[in-house]
Amino acid sequence: MRIKFWGVRGSIPTPGPTTARYGGNTTCLQLMPDDGETFGGEVLIIDAGTGIRELGLELMKLPKPLKIHLLITHTHMDHINGFPFFIPAFIPGTEIDIYGPLHYEKRLEEIFAGQMDYSYFPISAAQLAAGLNYHELNEGEFEIGPLKIQTHYMNHPVLTLGYRVSDGTSTVLFTGDHEQYFDIMGDESSGDDEEEDDVKAIVEQQSQRLIAFFRDVDLLVCDAAYTPGEYETHRGWGHSSTDHAVDWAIEAGVKTLVLFHHEPVHSDEQLDEMEAYARKRARDKGAALNIHTATEKIIFS
Ligand SMILES: [Zn+2]
Ligand SMILES: [Zn+2]
Repeated sequence: MRIKFWGVRGSIPTPGPTTARYGGNTTCLQLMPDDGETFGGEVLIIDAGTGIRELGLELMKLPKPLKIHLLITHTHMDHINGFPFFIPAFIPGTEIDIYGPLHYEKRLEEIFAGQMDYSYFPISAAQLAAGLNYHELNEGEFEIGPLKIQTHYMNHPVLTLGYRVSDGTSTVLFTGDHEQYFDIMGDESSGDDEEEDDVKAIVEQQSQRLIAFFRDVDLLVCDAAYTPGEYETHRGWGHSSTDHAVDWAIEAGVKTLVLFHHEPVHSDEQLDEMEAYARKRARDKGAALNIHTATEKIIFS
């Protein structure tokens, strides 16, 4: 399998000369088999940040009607707000299956339609000509054609699912937004030793479950928004550092790590430095891990 990146940035689009090389669109990935763009005529996309607009234009060149599966990691703006600009959704005959985490207070369909409310957008979701089928997910496993998809809750300030996709030959995994599990009490003692031991045990258990989810994947696309120094001042914001991503990939036996969710303030030169730093960390640990930086329009396999 291969992954083509249409949006690699976190938080907000960052067009301009300092981000032109890696790209300024927000999260959107296209999964493809080795020998084509679709899985038996069906398109597989993860997340609908602003990168999905150009992907939509590209998909219009494929034979119609289009059958599209859109996996949503979570509903933060940088992962869904390209959807109203996704041209295939306006074409009669297109079928789009949208998958995302089950929210108890609001349905996935309401969240998608909400961003097309007249206050924000001139066309309502009800006016989209495509057939939209919503699937609300928990942790588990399901199939799309020949693909096995496994979901796992990640650590982020809203319900977020990581997706592990296998075609029987290779496996790719996208974390979406994720921060390491940590003791929210930090260094402050609650005075209750038993409670502190319980928290430590939960952190350890969740960390091990995550490594099991990552185990032996060929291509891991992982949140690595921060440098280790930046992470220290952004603890609890829901994102990881290059150190976290490299260490998980090594521990889980990953072949290739792709650094993802670039911070809006990081220029192309800073991303080059973060990649060099991550590669050095892996080398220093004696690991044969390939490391790349997610880049718009570039295919990784
Ligand atoms: Zn994000
Ligand atoms: Zn997020």
